Amino acid sequence: MSSPLSSIPVAKPVLGEEEAEAVRRVILSGWVTQGPEVAAFESEFAAFVGAPHACAVSNCTTALHLALKAVGVGAGDEVITVSHSFIATANAIRYCDAVPVFVDIEAGGYNIDPIPVETAITPRTKAILCVHQLGMPCDLRSIVEIGKRHSIPVVEDAACATGSEILWDGRWEKIGKPHGDIACFSFHPRKVVTTGDGGMLTTADPEYDRKFRLWRQHGMSVTDAVRHGSQQVIFEDYDELGYNYRMTDLQAAVGRVQLRRLPELIAQRRRLADQYCERLSTVPGLAPPIEPGWARSNWQSFCVGLPDAVDQRPVMQALLDNGVSTRRGVMNIHQEGAYSGQSFHRAATNLARSVSAQQRTIILPLFAQMMDLDIARVVEALRGSMAEAAIPHANLRRDRDIVPA
Ligand SMILES: *Cc1c(COP(=O)(O)O)cnc(C)c1O
Repeated sequence: MSSPLSSIPVAKPVLGEEEAEAVRRVILSGWVTQGPEVAAFESEFAAFVGAPHACAVSNCTTALHLALKAVGVGAGDEVITVSHSFIATANAIRYCDAVPVFVDIEAGGYNIDPIPVETAITPRTKAILCVHQLGMPCDLRSIVEIGKRHSIPVVEDAACATGSEILWDGRWEKIGKPHGDIACFSFHPRKVVTTGDGGMLTTADPEYDRKFRLWRQHGMSVTDAVRHGSQQVIFEDYDELGYNYRMTDLQAAVGRVQLRRLPELIAQRRRLADQYCERLSTVPGLAPPIEPGWARSNWQSFCVGLPDAVDQRPVMQALLDNGVSTRRGVMNIHQEGAYSGQSFHRAATNLARSVSAQQRTIILPLFAQMMDLDIARVVEALRGSMAEAAIPHANLRRDRDIVPA
């Protein structure tokens, strides 16, 4: 797609003339927010994931807020989720004045472990918020069954998972159909497709969809499009507290182009991920990501586990010195200052795997413009950096940082 890169960023959006042209078209149309482009993006996104309803909003964090509110999460309620996620996952719970209840991640992966979810349920549990971390579908089948058994709604944080697929009743289906009650997507530039900022909620429930549309626009009873098109004077009402969580038509027009590019982008990312896995199998001690047989990741991020004897930061620094940008793996929310203190979260399990994952993993560059040569270069740079950074007594140094759950 391009020539080998002199320095390799960790991610890079694919945006071109078509997106620029789409924005130009919207600007010259004179209708720039929550208008025809948003409506078209919603129906195209719904068709793409196979969802009955899709509602566009300003970003995935606001999508999560509305999803939790729609399923009835309120003050003092509990929502079961993972600490090992981007902080927005738990922030959305706190926007509802509810308490995030953290469970650990599975062994050998970075997604929620379904086993402790059931024991984490209390009379105050109002939702399970599972995350398809890094674009890899979580064990949704188990989560949905637990939700059904206890009549607890399941919200999917699918921020990273646009275009990811899961094997469901013998068929490959897109994440966001949704398999839970509501799925929430992000179009931030760090994700696989972008609108600058942007989000989408999908659901099969028309009542949820009606609420999203009401709340995203200040709780206003009439939409701009309806009032604009009416031959009669219409006065609107505001019966419920709403928000300004609108997506603009400028964003939606870009999103429509990005959605058309998506299958090609994912095919390329999957090819590059295969290349990584093949080459990384020759790096001793390194743990490449594992894709279960029932999942097809969009490889939003490609996260590897370092061996115990290798410290994360010097490896990342040595890679950066060689022109290769990386990021540490997924963060743990319970280890951040904003969540310290008993009232801001509860840990339903020991979070040892989460803590270890944050310390041991790094995210390697992966974006559609990369070439095989770039992949080879990253792997060789990683091999060299790991040799340089190998430290004795690594376990002693790490244990110091482990915070008991
Ligand atoms: C990016 C991300 C979000 C937040 O998405 P925004 O669109 O930036 O609000 C939420 N959850 C996860 C897991 C994410 O990766």
